[in-house]
Amino acid sequence: MSSVHSPIKRRRSVAVKVGHVIVGGAAPVVVQSMTNTDTADAAATAAQVAQLANAGSELVRITVNSEEAARAAPEIRERLDRLGLAVPLIGDFHYNGHKLLSLYPACAEALAKYRINPGNVGRGRKKDEQFATIVELACRYEKPVRIGVNWGSLDQELVVRLMDENARLPVPKETAEVTREAMVVSALESARRAEEIGLPHERIILSVKVSEVQDLIAVYRHLAGRCDYPLHLGLTEAGMGVKGIVTSTAALAVLLQEGIGDTIRISLTPEPGGSRTQEVIVAQEILQAMGLRSFTPRVVACPGCGRTSSDYFQRLAQDIQTYLRQQMPVWSKRYPGVEAMTVAVMGCVVNGPGESKLANIGISLPGTGEYPVAPVYVDGEKTVTLKGDNITAEFQRLVEDYVERRYGGGDL
Ligand code: SF4
Repeated sequence: MSSVHSPIKRRRSVAVKVGHVIVGGAAPVVVQSMTNTDTADAAATAAQVAQLANAGSELVRITVNSEEAARAAPEIRERLDRLGLAVPLIGDFHYNGHKLLSLYPACAEALAKYRINPGNVGRGRKKDEQFATIVELACRYEKPVRIGVNWGSLDQELVVRLMDENARLPVPKETAEVTREAMVVSALESARRAEEIGLPHERIILSVKVSEVQDLIAVYRHLAGRCDYPLHLGLTEAGMGVKGIVTSTAALAVLLQEGIGDTIRISLTPEPGGSRTQEVIVAQEILQAMGLRSFTPRVVACPGCGRTSSDYFQRLAQDIQTYLRQQMPVWSKRYPGVEAMTVAVMGCVVNGPGESKLANIGISLPGTGEYPVAPVYVDGEKTVTLKGDNITAEFQRLVEDYVERRYGGGDL
């Protein structure tokens, strides 16, 4: 079905090059993720980066918290290159970044971007020196920097300064408002200092992450109106499972709708034994649902009701969804445009044929008590009716044929 909505008008930002990936400017919103392996274990970290990149992460961040981790970074890069994966690696630094980047030039070279949190670069006088060292190294290696302010590690000297100024106002503002202002000021002052040190304007990305939805929306609106740096969006410590997905989506959807956000990361806590790639899938689904990007063909499935007493159609919908996602690394190269395809999997013939006609290809399974046949529609026309025990495999084959004909350059 063709969409009737107007495209989202993106906020103007400068374009920043992170390896071969452009963040900001006219570039589409970039999906990124972060590993949770011990970076010092180069093999395990490279394997997880590969998993995240294959799932669709366009940038991957690794923590660089020790000399062992800094030593491992170039090896991780080499392992990925050997796999043919060019995904840029971002180094996450806290407190000792100045030291690690100075001592390990190969690490500084292997990383495509450095992330610094101005709240934990160092303490007292050392803070400015250590911040300057990282920025100087970014200048030397021609790398961009993300200045990532975090609510939980906000620069306390700055907070005290702004609280004192606020207390002297005739009508002082709420504490939460001053804290939000402190986050924005921390990001902007750090960016200004980085530019004074010599980092070009178009090599800076900003973020101001908090863990509450309303605070996140307020602080990013505030920041977006005061600069043209690209913004990295994410709700920090989003949590686990449904809660993490819903809170991240609630916050990011509002900001993305307002054109705010040039790259996103979903900070999900994985379920025990769960895959780290879930955060990539959620990020893609948010961007696709918002109409900002297309990654995987969309499966339209009805929720089911009393007419679908077996779980047959749920399994078919799941199988088709998994199958489509698994094909995408190959299909996206072989079949340009396939990511915009819609596949309908409906539980009965009440709404099934209608939805199927609107999709590129759709099937309506027999509901309880209905004649056991499943009509298939291709581009709005009923083409075949499937029956018997092999409906899933046959429908999958019809989808494959459709993709080959429609997106493979052949005639349909
Ligand atoms: S399409 Fe049929 S099975 Fe699905 S929710 Fe509607 S009535 Fe129920």
